[in-house]
This record gives sequence, C-alpha cells and structure tokens, in this order.
Amino acid sequence: MSGIPRPTVEKLLKENEDHKCSDSEVCVKLVALADLPTLYGNYQVAAFWNNFDRKEHAAFVHGDVVGMEEVPVRLHSECLTGDAIGSLRCDCREQLVQSLKRIGEMECGIVLYMRQEGRGIGFMNKIRAYQLQDEGYDTLKANEVLGFKPDERDYDLAAHMLGSLHVKSVRLLTNNPEKIKDLQTHGVKITSIIPVVVPPNEYNRFYLETKRRKAGHMLDSSRKEIFLEQRDDLVDDHHWNP
Ligand SMILES: [Zn+2]
Ligand SMILES: [Zn+2]
Repeated sequence: MSGIPRPTVEKLLKENEDHKCSDSEVCVKLVALADLPTLYGNYQVAAFWNNFDRKEHAAFVHGDVVGMEEVPVRLHSECLTGDAIGSLRCDCREQLVQSLKRIGEMECGIVLYMRQEGRGIGFMNKIRAYQLQDEGYDTLKANEVLGFKPDERDYDLAAHMLGSLHVKSVRLLTNNPEKIKDLQTHGVKITSIIPVVVPPNEYNRFYLETKRRKAGHMLDSSRKEIFLEQRDDLVDDHHWNP
C-alpha cells in the first residue's frame, strides 16, 4: 500500500519521541502510524499526543505527504451524531465523506480529525442545544449554546500536527474563511482554498443558513479552487519546523 514509506515513518516516530516545545506552548507528538484502507480510499492513520486538551487527535493521511508542498488538507471536528450515526441535523458526515473521497482520489492529502465535539463545546452542550431547538426554543439562543467561537488553540494543535508531518504548504478544503486566517496565524502556509459544497437537506437547512450568515461561510461558492497569496506578516511559525 502506498503512503508514507516505512523508513520515513520510523524516522518521524523517533524524531517525535525526542521532540518537545516549551511548556507554555501547545505541543503535539506523533505516537503511532498505521495503514488504514477505507471505503473512501487508501489511508494511513496517525495518532497524536498533546499537552493541551488530553484528547487523542488523529490524522488520516493519503499518499506520502512528508516534506510536500501544496498538500490538500481538511480540518474536521468530531461530530458523534453526524460522523458515526448519520444525523441529518448537520452536514458533518457529508463534509467528512466528501473530503475523504476527494483526497483519496488525489496524489496525497490529509484529513485532520480533531476530537472536539461541537466545535469544542462538548457532546453534552451540543445535545442541550438540540434539545432547546426541539422544545421550540428561540433558535438563536440555542445556537448561542452551540457556540460559534472555536478555541483558537484548536488551530495551534492542527498547525503543529501538520508541522509534525513536515507538510510545507497546504491547499485547504473548507468553506470557512475563519479557518484560513486562524491556521495562517499559527504558521500554516495556505496556497489555495478548495470549497466543499454539500447541498442542504430539510433538517439542516436552517443550521447551514445560520452558519453562513453568522460565520461568513462560503457555502454557495461554485469555484473549484481559490488561490491565495500568503500574508507572511500573519505567520507565527514557531511550530512550523519542529
Ligand atoms: Zn511541539
Ligand atoms: Zn455535526
């Protein structure tokens, strides 16, 4: 199976054993990497340790991304109801599957899978917000509980994970302009944006509409790829060359 070759994996693991950022910084270590054939293509799965949130974040890697420029990358936040159960209240699973399929067809790429349910508010709060909506609660109030402010340290973690895999620059699969800025701030060089468009269903139409309105998501973009010029002054690259 193609992917990151075994000698490179060994080298990465060794390098990560010895790796340490200062105590005040978010630090990530690659601890294991194994083959993972999936319904959506040949992948490898990487498990990461971090000193920040005790969650076990993952990267699903297709092809040999180590030392590569312009690697397609999708940043995904765990959604138990969507990813595993196929809930129609959101579009998480659709976005995840579409990203895995598209990257699986490309030469290489990565899906970073962040174990932060409901964008970091946690599973209980997410279901509380669903419950409020079911009770006919003011949807704006429920969305407040759902929270539209991701912790910026999530991006620090993601940036470090890409750095640990020696990814030099990325083509980001996203509809969310905030993700672009936040990743850039943490030193990720983004060369272009690839929109991931999922048509709404009757259950998530309002949710998607709110996401677009409140967070400026580019859900209606019909463009295949949007090229960016890197704003070097935005970049804090303390994680970029671990
Ligand atoms: Zn580190
Ligand atoms: Zn979801």
